[in-house]
Amino acid sequence: MKAQVFRGVNQLSYEELPVPTLEPDEVLVQVQVVGLCQSDIKKIRYPLYEPPRIFGHETAGTISAVGSQVTGWQVGQRVAVMHHIPCMRCDYCLNDNFSMCDTYKNISTTAGFNASGGGFAEYVKVPGHIVRNGGLIPIPDNISFEEASFVEPTNCCLKAVKKAQIAPGQTVLITGAGPIGLMFIMLVKYFGAKAIATDLLPSRIEKALSVGAEAAFDARDANLPAKIHDLTNGMGVDVTLLAVPSDKAFFQALDCTRKGGKILFFAEFPDEMEIPVNPNLLYRREIDLMGSYSSSYRIQSLAADIVFNRRIDVQALISDRYRLQDLSAAVEQAIAPTAETYKILIYP
Ligand SMILES: [Zn+2]
Ligand SMILES: [Zn+2]
Repeated sequence: MKAQVFRGVNQLSYEELPVPTLEPDEVLVQVQVVGLCQSDIKKIRYPLYEPPRIFGHETAGTISAVGSQVTGWQVGQRVAVMHHIPCMRCDYCLNDNFSMCDTYKNISTTAGFNASGGGFAEYVKVPGHIVRNGGLIPIPDNISFEEASFVEPTNCCLKAVKKAQIAPGQTVLITGAGPIGLMFIMLVKYFGAKAIATDLLPSRIEKALSVGAEAAFDARDANLPAKIHDLTNGMGVDVTLLAVPSDKAFFQALDCTRKGGKILFFAEFPDEMEIPVNPNLLYRREIDLMGSYSSSYRIQSLAADIVFNRRIDVQALISDRYRLQDLSAAVEQAIAPTAETYKILIYP
């Protein structure tokens, strides 16, 4: 089979590899569509992981083989694949911090080498722990593989929306209207709150409005806090979701979020970046700072419901489709987006 192997920083190599062989409790999935995630791009561009590895984790495909002990799954079934499933019994899991669980972090789907998602390959192997514990999600007949590839990123965004306790009637500022910011706009609206978005690209500001933002502004607008206060009866927004790794966006969030509000870090910042915070902003204004990383097992069926019942329009997020051999070009486009670049999907 063909796979895109990470051979070092910025070195993707399109290689012929053996199809993974199955243990009796494992399942093999032929990858039809895999989403290109910002986290994949970071793993490719920065020295975060020892090579060789095969990344890609927003996977939808067809079961092509099942181990002898696997029950309930057949060759030919269409599935969305979760690359991590928590153990459900460690101290993190018992406190609903599933993404901190060692099992969650260490057991993953793989197409070869150290397990790292493996979606950037023609076939990916799903370990027994993930097969047994709900990591394969059947795709309804009327839903495309493209749509199904959004179950994982929807879960990640949904987890942040839930963590920030976004409620009907609230107003939420979303900094950054790329694929993640746009999905936040859709989810915030679905849960009955109003979304205000910012971005640097005029096309993304327009796109934010077209997917349901109440208002959208240029992030460089010096009057942004005043405009936000005008839209919120002088209060400021209830929640800001930081979907760009920018300290400027964080300081804007402090100016735009109401007393008692929340600021949630969703984008991963460069490790060397430090942000000075006056603790009295947190004390006197009772602003809660929080972070949300990866997905939550608890809301997996809700994420699937949202995608499979088209409660948000994930197709509106898709801008580009690449063949697996052209993954490097896809990464280049994601790093330097054109005016019309949103979600990029890869076709192994
Ligand atoms: Zn992802
Ligand atoms: Zn656990």
